[in-house]
Order: sequence, then structure tokens, then C-alpha cells
Amino acid sequence: MAKTKIGILGAGYAGLLALKVLQSKAKDVEITLIDRNSYHNEATDYHEVAAGSVNADKITYQIADVVKPGITNFIQATVTKIDKEAKTVEIEGHEPMTFDYLIVALGFRSETFGIKGATEFALPMDDVESSEAVYKHFIAKLEDYRTSKKPDNLKVLIAGAGFTGMELLGAMAENKAKYAKIAGVTPDDIELTCIDAAPSLLPMFPSDLADYAVKRLAKRGAKVYTSRGINEVKDGVVVAQNMETKEIIEFPAGTIIWTTGVSGSDVIANSGIEARRNRVMVTSQLKDPENDKVYILGDVAAVMDAESGRPYPTTAQIALVMGHVAAMNIIADMNGQEGEDFKYVSQGTVCSLGNTDAIGVLGNGTKVKGYVASALKKIIMNKSLWETGGVKEMLAKGRFDLYH
Ligand code: NAD
Repeated sequence: MAKTKIGILGAGYAGLLALKVLQSKAKDVEITLIDRNSYHNEATDYHEVAAGSVNADKITYQIADVVKPGITNFIQATVTKIDKEAKTVEIEGHEPMTFDYLIVALGFRSETFGIKGATEFALPMDDVESSEAVYKHFIAKLEDYRTSKKPDNLKVLIAGAGFTGMELLGAMAENKAKYAKIAGVTPDDIELTCIDAAPSLLPMFPSDLADYAVKRLAKRGAKVYTSRGINEVKDGVVVAQNMETKEIIEFPAGTIIWTTGVSGSDVIANSGIEARRNRVMVTSQLKDPENDKVYILGDVAAVMDAESGRPYPTTAQIALVMGHVAAMNIIADMNGQEGEDFKYVSQGTVCSLGNTDAIGVLGNGTKVKGYVASALKKIIMNKSLWETGGVKEMLAKGRFDLYH
């Protein structure tokens, strides 16, 4: 009997979790996993690479380490288009791939919302390379300062104070002394600023926790300004409008980092799949509404949370659960059984503010902050490494400095 062909596009959190479940539980399957990189990366940790807190290899591991030969064929290549009707996937430099079931988990890209100059003059942080590029750019500015004495070389402007912007600001604030040494200045000379259009920050947290975050960052010399809507980015300058007074304010900075939000992979739009910001509204079983053999997960998917009446956010924790549910639903379908609905019970949400500080809310609503919250964040990170990469990757790449 011919084996069932399952294609998995993307080796992020959702794709790898689905792979692991299928490899251990599915019978008579032939899996093809496609990713443009040879490695999986922990997308939640890009800010640490951009801040220079860790090297890229700390947040990556080889996909080959989790691929079971004989069941799964891994192709390192770029997916360009999905044809749901023809049941094929176009892949750069390869013959199109056919499938019986497909898991689309192609991840996100940074979104500029068409703001003038953002692509040209601001640095995105949407993969390991671009995160490394942020750090290299800033270090080059600091080194240049030694001779040029250009004041803007010491300034960083982070555009967008969502999770990514705030976590990056926290990590950079912690490294001020290191940056200062490179430029030959004192830590107070390094200016770190993050601005956001919204009147208040981190709406998923109670306001007292968001206030705590701003105060802690201020203590470390990192400023956060709300109600500053960015209209334009020029070479070395962010132009924003004070949303309350309508005044136009310029923020000069040698390093401008773009963290105003994300969209799903452009493969969705290129494939003519109906979506909003490349996120496809999937069924409760995570299927494409137009093709029940295609599952769409992670940052390219939007799944309704019946409780809030809004789609779930795009987080690593949710992507992992999606990977599990989709794999189990494929196995059920292969056995002629009904699949299960996706449900997510949050065990907690944490926003780091550096290595030893964070804010968080546990699943039961308990608020946490400081060391306890940062330790919790590391436990969550280690759990996700264990779930996708297994014990080996967790021991090699995990964070075990929980209490200092
Ligand atoms: P986001 O959408 O959460 O935040 C973007 C921020 O940019 C918002 O606060 C928004 O008001 C602001 N913004 C947008 N346009 C602007 C403009 N023109 N001028 C000024 N500000 C502007 O995006 P993100 O932080 O990149 O996060 C993306 C996703 O990843 C989210 O779903 C987030 O929850 C998730 N994430 C989670 C974690 C975690 O759980 N620790 C960490 C990182 C990211």
C-alpha cells in the first residue's frame, strides 16, 4: 500500500512539534519537511541576539537532529507557492512536491504597514540573520563613535513597544556598560528609547505590571514613550506624531530597530490564499476552510478564541499546541476518525525585561514580576526547546541560570 504523503512547510515551533508527533505516532507515512534554513531557531529569542546578549548558535539547532531518517525527508529550500487544488507546493530549485496532507507553518515577517522609509532606514528583526545584523550595525556605530564623536551613534530608537520592542529594550538596557566600553563612553551616554503609537503599553498585562516594566527600564536608563505614532523614517531619524497634542517630533538615532508588528509569510499572498496580513482564518480543527487536507498553523494562521471573540495571538506557546493538534487530527483523519478542536489554556504569559527581570501573568491570573517572572520565562523557553528538540537540545541550548 502506498504511504500517505505529508508535507510540512516550515521548521518553526508549530512545524517541528507536528513533525515530532507524526514521526512517533503516525503509521505508514512519508513526511517531507521543507525549510529555507538548515536550523530551527527560537524566534522568541531574536531580541537577545540583536542586543548581543547571546550568540546566534544559542538560539538555533540543526533540523537534522530531530528528523527521523526512513520516515522524514528534509529539504533545505525556499517554498514559493502552494497550489491547494493541484495539491502541489512549488519549491525553489526543486521539482514541485505533491501531498496527501499539508501543514503550512511558514512563520512571520516584520510588518512596516507601508510607512515611508521604514524598509530603507530601519532594521527588522525577523530571523536570526537580521537580528545579528541589528547588533553588528549598532556595534559599528559605537566603534565609529570613538573617532567620529557623532552623538547619534550612541542612540538606539526602537519603533513599537509590543512584546518584541520591550523585550529588546530590556535586553539592551542590561548591556549598556558593554556598549559604553566599545564606544569609550560611560553607560549613561548610551541612549535607548522605545516609542509606541498606543496610549498605554502591553494591553495583555494589568496596567500596574506595564507601569512596573516602564519604571524598571527607566531605572536602567531606557526610555519608553507612548502616544507617538510613527509617520516616516528618514536616514537616522524617526518622525512621529504626538497622538494627543498632534505635535511632530523627530527622534534622531544611529540605530533604528523596527518592531511595530508582524505579518504571516508572503507565501500565503503569493499563493492567492484569502487572508488578513497573511494570516488565514482556519477552522476550529486548524484546517484551511477551503481544503480539509491542508492545515495552517502558527503565525500564518488565525484561529478564533470563542471566549474572547477574537483570534488567539501569535505566540510560540500557542504554535506548539497547534502543531500537536494538527498532527493528531491528520492521524485521526487517516484512521477515518473525527479530529479534535484546537483549545488553548494559557499557563502564563511573560515579557522579559532583561536576563533577571520580567513581568508575567500566570494561567490562574496571578501576577508575577522581577526574578520570579524571569525564572518563569526561562522555564517556558526550556519547555519549548524540550518539546521541539528533545532533551539533547534543551540541555545544550536551555537557560539554567534561573536564580542569578
Ligand atoms: P505587536 O503587534 O505585539 O506590537 C507592535 C507594537 O507596535 C504595538 O504596541 C503597536 O501599537 C506599535 N505600533 C504599530 N505601528 C506603530 C507606529 N506606526 N508607530 C508607533 N508604534 C506602532 O508586535 P510584536 O511585539 O512584534 O509581537 C508580534 C507577536 O509575537 C505578538 O503576537 C506577540 O504577542 C508575540 N510575541 C510574544 C512574546 C512573548 O510571549 N514573550 C515575545 C515576542 C513576541
